[in-house]
Amino acid sequence: MASGETRCPECESDLDLDGYDLDQGETLNCPECGLPLVVRSLDPLTIETEDS
Ligand SMILES: [Zn+2]
Repeated sequence: MASGETRCPECESDLDLDGYDLDQGETLNCPECGLPLVVRSLDPLTIETEDS
């Protein structure tokens, strides 16, 4: 079971979100490309670009 394995939809870098207390709808920036991302779903964890 892969947990916390989430990739940026833009640059596909691994987002190390393990241990983060994320909420649905929470926004974050990709540490690699700086793209604004939003947590669409927690189960399964789904990260999308903010404007999609
Ligand atoms: Zn990125």
